[in-house]
Amino acid sequence: MTVFDRLKDAVGPNGFSEDPAEIAPHLEEWRSKYKGHSPLLLKPATTAQVSAALCICNDNGIKVVTQGGNTGLVGGQIPLQGEVLLSTRRLNKVRALDETGATLTVEAGVTLAEVQRAADDANFLFPLSLASEGSCTIGGNIATNAGGTHVLRYGMTRALVLGLEAVLANGTVLDMSRTLLKDNTGYDLKQMFIGSEGTLGVITAAALRLFPKPDVAVTAFAAVPSPAAALKLLGAMQARTGGMLSAFELIPRIALEFVTRHIEGARDPLEAASPWYVLMEATGGREANLGATFEDALGAAMEDGAATDAVVASSQAQAAALWKLRESISESQKREGASIKHDISVPVAAVPDFIARAVPAVLALTPGARPVSFGHLGDGNIHFNFNSPYPGDDPAFLAQWEEVQQTVHDIVKDFGGSISAEHGIGVMKVAQLPRYKSHEELDAMRAIKAAFDPNNILNPGKTVPPVLRL
Ligand code: FAD
Ligand code: ZN
Repeated sequence: MTVFDRLKDAVGPNGFSEDPAEIAPHLEEWRSKYKGHSPLLLKPATTAQVSAALCICNDNGIKVVTQGGNTGLVGGQIPLQGEVLLSTRRLNKVRALDETGATLTVEAGVTLAEVQRAADDANFLFPLSLASEGSCTIGGNIATNAGGTHVLRYGMTRALVLGLEAVLANGTVLDMSRTLLKDNTGYDLKQMFIGSEGTLGVITAAALRLFPKPDVAVTAFAAVPSPAAALKLLGAMQARTGGMLSAFELIPRIALEFVTRHIEGARDPLEAASPWYVLMEATGGREANLGATFEDALGAAMEDGAATDAVVASSQAQAAALWKLRESISESQKREGASIKHDISVPVAAVPDFIARAVPAVLALTPGARPVSFGHLGDGNIHFNFNSPYPGDDPAFLAQWEEVQQTVHDIVKDFGGSISAEHGIGVMKVAQLPRYKSHEELDAMRAIKAAFDPNNILNPGKTVPPVLRL
């Protein structure tokens, strides 16, 4: 029996594929930046099957790339070295709902949208929210410690995970799927897997934290003269609503133009053009009279000059249309042609200075490039992107990716920021990590990787930079 035969046995007749047509969609990611190849796709349906398969791989030095919804933006889920692919999509059961404790336990392959729906059906909120939520899986969200649009109020994915079940490289199952809010029994091992990007183990299930479903959501789209004014608006709205903001997203004029040009039904909600906009949302209970408080706060901020115009959604449909403007930015940027992207964070107060310094630095390298700096201003996380000077493909522009990236990341470092705020390191940033993270931190990361995966079979070459030999 070959090793592959043993692997197929371990996952059962419906648990694998060697059909190139079935494997093909798993080999390329959303941005078509990375393409891989793989001889075998494993589709385990139980934790025991994951364990049996990994045990065989570990004993035989077979490398494995875990993949959830394949929406990752740093190439971590792509088998670039011909590794075996392990898809979690058949680990798709909702295991338990505890309404009193407000927890939901699901398997790793359940999509984020399904998790949100299961919470909603039970009259709870699961607040993680990403434009990719229809396809990404909760296992992928945890493996990347995903952020999204509600971090301001609810934190990153890490803050939403109470327990985990994970399988180590050698097949050992770590059942840490407790639903406790408090548990200080030594090292909190589940944290190691959150944000580990498939390098330390395969997450098979998670106990998630649910929140009360807000009765009221107020959504507004405001014109602001500058990122600094947007921050002033953020402070004023938080202070006057008692911290009720759940989202605060920065949108530049050019992004709104891209969206109204490329996305059907998208319209500019305001009459006059403004260089910058903010999409904000506040949520709360019915008793809080949130709508009136929010509008008073916005009115005062406008008198102060923090905003020059605004529309507050008067219906759910209007709120959804405003959110669609924000959520369509990536898609419309793609339709506009080539772009060079960064996912950076700096201290919130430093965002305006960062943009003011980094945009001209990039334009000096790529004259005519179109800056599209948007995203989670309330978290200090900007998707600091540039479209090519002209719509369409532009290989000469894309050839400057590395040079542009290093320029941007060096400025991020000067501001005490991070070169990956929410998308992770994967393969895209692994070579640069040593430039931005200390030797001591990298050595600690390598020691952890060696302890959990001594044969280096899980996502080799991703996230953890090799030791540089001079
Ligand atoms: P995959 O892409 O399949 O995998 C991502 C990484 O996790 C890989 O390294 C993989 O090996 C590992 N992995 C996946 N599942 C497991 C598992 N069960 N156990 C161990 N490792 C695993 N991200 C944000 O943070 N915020 C955003 O706002 C956001 N918006 C996006 C919008 C669009 C349009 C797109 C395409 C992507 C966006 N993303 C965003 C990125 C992406 O959706 C997230 O990284 C998501 O968490 C990935 O989930 P996935 O199931 O698709 O994982
Ligand atoms: Zn984002």
